[in-house]
Amino acid sequence: MNTDVVVVGGGPVGLLLAAELRLGGARVVLLERLTEPSGHSRAFRMQARMLDVLDQRGLLDRFKEGNRTWPKAHFAGLEPLLDFGHLRNEHPYALLIPQARTEELLEEHALACGVEIRRGHTLRGLDATPSDVVAEVESPEGTYRLRSHYLVGCDGGRSTVRKLAGIGFGGSPPTVRALLADVELADPGQLPNGVPGTMRTPRGLLMAISLQPGVTRVLTTEFTPPEPGSEHAPVTLDELRETVRRITGIDVAMDRPRWLSRFADTTRLADTYRQGRVLLAGDAAHVHFPIGAQGLNLGLQDAVNLGWKLAGTIVGWAPPGLLDSYGSERRPVAGRVLRETRVQLLLMAPDPKVDPLREMFAELLALPEVNSRLAHEMTGLDVHYAAAAGRYEHGLLGRPCPPLPASVGDEVRTVLRTGRGALLLPEGPAEEAARLATEWSHRVGRVATEDGQGLLLRPDGHVAWVDPGDGVPRKDVLLELEDALRRWFGAPGCTVLSRNDDTAGR
Ligand SMILES: Cc1cc2nc3c(=O)[nH]c(=O)nc-3n(C[C@H](O)[C@H](O)[C@H](O)COP(=O)(O)OP(=O)(O)OC[C@H]3O[C@@H](n4cnc5c(N)ncnc54)[C@H](O)[C@@H]3O)c2cc1C
Repeated sequence: MNTDVVVVGGGPVGLLLAAELRLGGARVVLLERLTEPSGHSRAFRMQARMLDVLDQRGLLDRFKEGNRTWPKAHFAGLEPLLDFGHLRNEHPYALLIPQARTEELLEEHALACGVEIRRGHTLRGLDATPSDVVAEVESPEGTYRLRSHYLVGCDGGRSTVRKLAGIGFGGSPPTVRALLADVELADPGQLPNGVPGTMRTPRGLLMAISLQPGVTRVLTTEFTPPEPGSEHAPVTLDELRETVRRITGIDVAMDRPRWLSRFADTTRLADTYRQGRVLLAGDAAHVHFPIGAQGLNLGLQDAVNLGWKLAGTIVGWAPPGLLDSYGSERRPVAGRVLRETRVQLLLMAPDPKVDPLREMFAELLALPEVNSRLAHEMTGLDVHYAAAAGRYEHGLLGRPCPPLPASVGDEVRTVLRTGRGALLLPEGPAEEAARLATEWSHRVGRVATEDGQGLLLRPDGHVAWVDPGDGVPRKDVLLELEDALRRWFGAPGCTVLSRNDDTAGR
């Protein structure tokens, strides 16, 4: 073997996954076809759930440096806005950060974790057998073969890995044509709804947001399918001006484009996230219309779900079924995001028949319960991995860790950032549970709390066990803890075969 895992694609998802694999002790080679980062930013918003995860990896402060936070977001361009102030998490807001900066920080993190990044290296072919995967890679020095235990495609919506592995990508073709333009507006006041602002007219949508002093992002959407084969056609400033005029009826003076690109609402989900030794994550596994700022966030959470499971499989402690839980947990989450983005786009269609639906949805958004439910859905905080049937049920099982008191939170983050799970136990009454867990201490760090609830967190910060307190026999609570430790962290006392010797070769 040249390495344990080959990650194809050095976008945000590939970079974070590679770092997570290293935290778990696997050797990783990341292949990225671009010789330099593009510097362009599709995404501009990091959602609340991902902020908690970044904090659990010790990265959040760097992400926040110089970037603004925003406690609200729109749903389908309706008022009232979604209010993030009531989110049940540590960081109840969105962070406005350009994707290029996100990628820069994740690359720094991946390198610090010991990932070998090969830029200018493109995956051209792959041969997966039951015992290994051989990638055929084109590089500036020529073509070579790279053998690994597993290969993960994080190579975007047009994923070569997905196609070579023959994994289906079912869904719906594009129904709208959309343009993205980072330009200078001669007079932002020309746009009737200003900057930032959204305009819905009988001919389409126009959104404008300020990117930096003097540069505005203009997004147009027209509700007719793109011409077949036009998805790669370059966008010109004239095409943009003409599109804005068609939608708004106004000649908006704009110039000096920094970036012009086109996108659509193609909505597809991979039939499976794993085929033998080949896996998919991020846009390679799911694509949808970019409304609500969710694609990158969804993909990053794929990475955080997969990293420790795949590393555990390679290192040798993973129990049967752990790796397959990646697809069974993450695919339904993507399915829900695909549904919700379809709903938002339908609500934004220019057809006047949609107007009564918009009015009714706006009334519903004013109800705190509806507003909160959609806010949790859009930020990834509603994710709830199905818990195995146990001796008792609890509302926190499978959910992201709830906010913790500051001192406990700091200790938990110190443990999670090493890629281990965390067991929070109050001192005293939980001594039996603490004794039981010592057998897993190399994979689960103990955090003693003064009081509060006993909780077991997986390395991705999801709750795997809860002490429900009085009302359930102690014997059952301990048996439940042991089951959870075995299910997520393998057999007790299993030695860690660290593979942190960097021997990946070409
Ligand atoms: C207009 C717009 C706005 C958006 N806004 C947001 C937002 O605010 N928030 C949000 O969460 N999401 C947003 N998204 C979605 C987000 O940009 C994507 O979901 C995200 O980039 C996916 O990351 P990824 O790493 O999976 O794939 P990508 O970013 O596409 O990265 C894939 C990488 O793989 C490389 N690659 C491809 N093929 C090969 C190969 N054969 N060999 C080697 N390397 C290869 C590519 O060069 C690329 O670097 C937006 C999208 C658009 C279009």
